[in-house]
Amino acid sequence: MNRLPKLIFELSREGKVGVGLNEADVPARPAVDEGLLRGPVADFPQVSEVEVVRHYMALAALNYSVDKGFYPLGSCTMKYNPKVNEKLAAAEELQAHPYAPHDLVQGNLEIMARLEDWLKELTGMAGFTLAPAAGAHGEFTGMLVVRRYLQEKGDARKVVLIPDSAHGTNPASAHFAGYEVREIASSARGTIGAAELRPHLTPDVAALMMTNPNTLGIFESDIVAVAEALHANGSLLYMDGANLNALLGAVRPGDLGVDVMHINLHKTFATPHGGGGPGSGPVGVAAHLLPFLPVPRVRRAGGGCEVVYDDPRSIGRVKNFYGQFLVMVRALAYLMALGREHVGRVAEDAVLNANYVRKKLEGLLDLPYPAPTLHEAVFSDAGLPVKTLDIAKRLLDYGYHPFTIYFPLIVHGAMMIEPTESESKETLDGFIAVMETILREAKENPELLRQAPTATPVRRLDETLAARKPVLRWRKGEGH
Ligand SMILES: *Cc1c(COP(=O)(O)O)cnc(C)c1O
Repeated sequence: MNRLPKLIFELSREGKVGVGLNEADVPARPAVDEGLLRGPVADFPQVSEVEVVRHYMALAALNYSVDKGFYPLGSCTMKYNPKVNEKLAAAEELQAHPYAPHDLVQGNLEIMARLEDWLKELTGMAGFTLAPAAGAHGEFTGMLVVRRYLQEKGDARKVVLIPDSAHGTNPASAHFAGYEVREIASSARGTIGAAELRPHLTPDVAALMMTNPNTLGIFESDIVAVAEALHANGSLLYMDGANLNALLGAVRPGDLGVDVMHINLHKTFATPHGGGGPGSGPVGVAAHLLPFLPVPRVRRAGGGCEVVYDDPRSIGRVKNFYGQFLVMVRALAYLMALGREHVGRVAEDAVLNANYVRKKLEGLLDLPYPAPTLHEAVFSDAGLPVKTLDIAKRLLDYGYHPFTIYFPLIVHGAMMIEPTESESKETLDGFIAVMETILREAKENPELLRQAPTATPVRRLDETLAARKPVLRWRKGEGH
């Protein structure tokens, strides 16, 4: 069993030090002036250098990451992040002060302009802002753009429609942008068509926010008709494009009638995210919404790039400086490494891998929405002697990161599996074999799964308590 390393405080022994310094030849001074201390400085661990190094290595080894193993976390697109991207993002030449004069950072601005060109070409949108720092931040920005556009037309509408298969951040973003959210039930097929939309399409509807492919992994095949119905009603179509991995090079949302969308650079374009790094959620808009995008905007001018800060029709700033620049560098590096002609392979292989896993597990797990799926598949725990949580916990014993569980909410005990394109057939076969073993165990010895995990440093946690009352620092006498 992989045990928790000893706390560094437990290794501490009076008098141990990690450094050897010569006798000081200047008078000693306290490190911090007495008057600035809140209390006595005590209980710093006293350890040697090698103990410190081993302590942190042992902690790091407990981490699970996409560099360590398969990570089929649905909706999160945990694909491999090529190391060349990291190398470029760390390049000294690219590290610039955010207040540096524009003529000294033309290269950085060119990177942003080129990334925007790529995004426009891949999505068919007229322009992008790269400012938002995450997908949800992009949604919020996009909805502010919608609001400003309608307000300028003197048509302040109040309602945003959101399908029950949309990502959970959508209603929160619409609400924060000042809208009342109304949910639309998707059809038995798992999508929204004109029939589902029509009863809700009242004159106060500002927009519909549609995740496509939706959180069931199903392509919203009626999206063109939906866009037309919305536009005829004076409403806009927002597309949550965080699942763009499934569409890359195959379909352009701008060609389908989408007015606003966001992209998750950190998902689709392979930059470390989640616990591993910051995000970036660019927002793309159709031509009629261009004037409302946030500032600053990077614009090509006179053979170089300029930055527009003042634009009376813009919604203003949504992020300090330019956004998450080094995520943009990684995304552009990823796209350039693939090249325009190979970018479509991303979606092809992501969809192929997801359908391979789906086909292999279809006979073993309930699939509540049998419609064809793209980059992920969502199973339910119907008919099993154990719960989804038990299966996820048992996966930990076999060394796999579990899939997304209990989301989307419209599937009972959902298991949402997104393998991504970066996995080999051998990796997928290994995962499928483990799932087969676990499902056999579930029938023969369900208690084994209910007790899982047993091979991890900590067993099943009280997740509610951990979220509500997290213990984030060590205090003497309180133990682990
Ligand atoms: C991940 C995701 C989001 C939110 O993106 P964050 O960067 O986590 O804020 C929104 N919609 C969908 C479909 C997603 O998968």
